[in-house]
Amino acid sequence: MKKSSYTPANDSPMGQYASAMVQGGLRLTPQRRQVYEVLMNKRDHPTATEVFIRAQKRMPSISLATVYNCLETMVGSGLVKAVHVDREPTRFCANLQEHGHFHCTECGHISDVEFSQNQDKGWKLPFGFLVTQHDVSLRGLCADCSTNSKKIHHSKPTIK
Ligand SMILES: [Zn+2]
Ligand SMILES: [Zn+2]
Repeated sequence: MKKSSYTPANDSPMGQYASAMVQGGLRLTPQRRQVYEVLMNKRDHPTATEVFIRAQKRMPSISLATVYNCLETMVGSGLVKAVHVDREPTRFCANLQEHGHFHCTECGHISDVEFSQNQDKGWKLPFGFLVTQHDVSLRGLCADCSTNSKKIHHSKPTIK
């Protein structure tokens, strides 16, 4: 019989996880695995508390403190990105591709935004400067909210 349902390929999320953990010198604990799976399963930039609630459904024994520890360790090793939005609690992102975050000021949703190939072209970097990492956050209205706000602006006079 062929085993087609499970392939532990290196490019699979868990393969990436395993190699990143090993590279960062981290042990593959079931708790860390669980936390990372939560982040990979739904890429909606949850807060630590949200990660805890989701992880607990699959691992009832996991504690909030453990989730905080796992997240902190993973951020420290570069496996997970911490996303800061104003005074809100830190959110977490498992997308390891270079990307920015678009924060919708209306509904609070955070979307991943990819950089275009010639991403450095938009910045007037001083001569000799080399970009090695991007940490870009954009804010505005998501597609749904901008559509809704157009409707509102059409029916109501603009305030301010
Ligand atoms: Zn992200
Ligand atoms: Zn929105």
